[in-house]
Amino acid sequence: MSDTIFGKIIRREIPAAIVYEDEDVLGFKDIAPQAPVHVLFIPKNEVIPTLDDLQPTQAHLIGKLALAAAAYARQEGFAENGYRIVMNCREDAGQTVFHIHLHLLAGAPLGHFGA
Ligand code: 5GP
Repeated sequence: MSDTIFGKIIRREIPAAIVYEDEDVLGFKDIAPQAPVHVLFIPKNEVIPTLDDLQPTQAHLIGKLALAAAAYARQEGFAENGYRIVMNCREDAGQTVFHIHLHLLAGAPLGHFGA
């Protein structure tokens, strides 16, 4: 089981604003939102620290994270306006929690990003 802060959220050991859950994926609001909508989607049952650790047998989980984000966007009514999904891998990307996660950002026009 994940030894990170997200593992504690999965196990309900610390609170989180959970907005989505299915058998494989948990979605909850980011504690320090970078956009009006900022939700994190994580795998619930697999320990995958970074994208670089993803095994071929786990590849479907990335699709499940993306589908969960898209479903949430439709449910909340901002799918047509658009949104961004981001996955940071390791230090240069600014990854701080080493339990793989997809950021969903939305709710306003988002600036371009990069270096
Ligand atoms: P990363 O920088 O690793 O891609 O993203 C980690 C995200 O997790 C950050 O946006 C950060 O604000 C969020 N985060 C860190 N600790 C917690 C927490 O305890 N609860 C919630 N809901 N989000 C957290």
